[in-house]
Amino acid sequence: MSDRYDVIVVGARCGGSPTAMLLAREGYRVLVVDRASFPSDTLSTHYIHQPGVARLKRWGLLDAVAASNCPPARRLTFDVGPFALVGTPPPADGVAEAYAPRRTVLDQILVEAAAAAGAEVRTGFSVQELVWEGGRVAGIRGRAEGGQSVTERARVVVGADGLHSLVARAVAAPVYNERPAFGCAYYTYWSGVPVDGAELYARPERMIIAGPTNDGLTVTIAYWPAAMFHEVRADIDGHFLAALEQAPGLAERIRAGRRAERFRGTAELRNFFRKPYGPGWALVGDAGYHKDPITAEGISDAFRDAELLTEALDEGLSGRRGLDDALAGYQARRDEAAMPLYEFTCQLATLQEPPPEMQQLFGALRGNQEQTDRFFGVIAGTTPMAEFFAPENIGRIMAGAAMVA
Ligand SMILES: Cc1cc2nc3c(=O)[nH]c(=O)nc-3n(C[C@H](O)[C@H](O)[C@H](O)COP(=O)(O)OP(=O)(O)OC[C@H]3O[C@@H](n4cnc5c(N)ncnc54)[C@H](O)[C@@H]3O)c2cc1C
Repeated sequence: MSDRYDVIVVGARCGGSPTAMLLAREGYRVLVVDRASFPSDTLSTHYIHQPGVARLKRWGLLDAVAASNCPPARRLTFDVGPFALVGTPPPADGVAEAYAPRRTVLDQILVEAAAAAGAEVRTGFSVQELVWEGGRVAGIRGRAEGGQSVTERARVVVGADGLHSLVARAVAAPVYNERPAFGCAYYTYWSGVPVDGAELYARPERMIIAGPTNDGLTVTIAYWPAAMFHEVRADIDGHFLAALEQAPGLAERIRAGRRAERFRGTAELRNFFRKPYGPGWALVGDAGYHKDPITAEGISDAFRDAELLTEALDEGLSGRRGLDDALAGYQARRDEAAMPLYEFTCQLATLQEPPPEMQQLFGALRGNQEQTDRFFGVIAGTTPMAEFFAPENIGRIMAGAAMVA
């Protein structure tokens, strides 16, 4: 029996809609479903580093983001207590700006782009189980709210259904490189609080981050050790303001502003990879690779992986390469791209003092603008980590600092 679709994508946000859009642009018959309707919010702040923004530009979607009354953010401030490093990461494909568009804005743009590319989009549609045939995933079964159970078939089902992925659970996707959940976080929005780009304040057992978003609002997120989650939840206001007091310059601006929304938070800041493919299925975005958001990589990573997965599916479905082989290539490319920053992110997420050699490095970066910018490029994903942390480069930074001292 021929399948109605080449690919069904479950989940229509940062991983799902770009995958559906890119596959549809290649001429594949794609169905993308989500139990949410759009525009809608989801539990997430939304800073997108330059490589993610460069992908939006390549896909023809950056103008819509820029026109949504969301200012670009170029400058990064990393305040380590005694001093702050300030700089701008090198551009990605000529894109020097980061953006932090609200998910209500971004996800709607992504869903519309998938539909405009020719993907069939079904929102308000909840997938309940996978359909199997001869040991392969062959489709989905689900329903619109209040509707009958519907079965749809495809050559491949992509789980872009987030941290709690039903697809990943149904196929028992193996987990690897797992680290503990180190932190918990709460975030909210303020009006009348000016920020110049993104500001990060690393403090003992805390991290506070602020950045500009749509409609003149500033998003702020604070992190605590995971063990404090219940304590923080019992008095979010008090704990948030106490954390802010450790960043007095920001606290002063916030006191002069007004909180515009309620606090939202989570302790589910888990860190793991899942094998992202198997017979008739693949995973993209948080469903396949989840990490603490402290370095704000999730959206940019989901965009990257949407491209990598689309290339692999195209190779496999067109018969240019065996599908399994192509998807193994997707896993290898994803892991190679993600792994270095994953370790860095987990280290930062412990909220512990950086190791002594890192503290020395921060000290040595003071006054060295070129290398500070390159360091920010490591976090943004525009400076290869291996290059920056190569002994020769670290040696150059240290020698430069010694000469100044
Ligand atoms: C507190 C916090 C702050 C963050 N801050 C940032 C940041 O600043 N920058 C950044 O890049 N990343 C950030 N992230 C991470 C970012 O939110 C995720 O990496 C990103 O949302 C992943 O996108 P996704 O499409 O894979 O999954 P999701 O955005 O989780 O989307 C999954 C979709 O699947 C749908 N779905 C799930 N199950 C089903 C089903 N059975 N049937 C139908 N639909 C289903 C859901 O409705 C949902 O719409 C943050 C995360 C958190 C928790």
